[in-house]
Amino acid sequence: MEKIKCTAIVLAAGQGKRMNSKIQKQFLMLQGRPVLYYSLRCFQESPLIQEIILVTGEESITYCAQEIVEKFEFTKVSKVIAGGKERYDSVYEGLLACGTCDYVFIHDGARPFITEDILERGFVGAQETGACVIGMPSKDTVKLADPQGFVGETPERSRVWTIQTPQIFSYPLIRKAHESIRCRDMSGITDDAMVVEQETGVKVRLEEGSYQNIKITTPEDMAVAEAFLRQEKICKKTKNMC
Ligand code: C5P
Repeated sequence: MEKIKCTAIVLAAGQGKRMNSKIQKQFLMLQGRPVLYYSLRCFQESPLIQEIILVTGEESITYCAQEIVEKFEFTKVSKVIAGGKERYDSVYEGLLACGTCDYVFIHDGARPFITEDILERGFVGAQETGACVIGMPSKDTVKLADPQGFVGETPERSRVWTIQTPQIFSYPLIRKAHESIRCRDMSGITDDAMVVEQETGVKVRLEEGSYQNIKITTPEDMAVAEAFLRQEKICKKTKNMC
């Protein structure tokens, strides 16, 4: 039987305005390496992934190719391409750049803490219907606001998940869904599962990521990320204690 081919699309074309930094958040340094390095390393080392498409800003293509892909020997990165104005535009460019593949793992390059376990759970989840998103049950109570700034609704907390990446899809399914939604207003689209939810009848499986799989968004996230990496180092040194 032929091996299933999986491609990772890693997104690093955002401006990251909420970080208030001249350097885009995916290129900020964490323990001497850019944020983007960590998720690329996970995909590079994963036996599940055969190819990586890196999507970045036009102006960052050379930096990514030389200072990240070449420097850290990420040999699975076959293309470094320019993204688009919105996240969904960058995803679409990534989808167009994929060679033949069966599944795609769409991942925010601003999430450095993915692990092989998460990739495996996501891949198994995606086998069921062709669509799986990684997330975690919400620790907080969530309220939906009404337009006047009052509480509109309180969903039952046990059913609320906060969603992370990677999001894993059968390639033909997500490509078709993106193509069909592109002719309409996409302003409310914040992840790829929404595209599948709106354009197809396919149910999206939820699988657990981890509470450590944070997206670097604001300056305090960098402090938290540094703490996670320090903890990891201590764990490696004192293997049995963690
Ligand atoms: O802005 P936000 O934090 O939601 O971005 C999530 C991920 O999508 C980041 O890794 C960012 O670099 C990427 N992105 C992109 N192209 C855009 C906007 C965001 O690749 N136009």
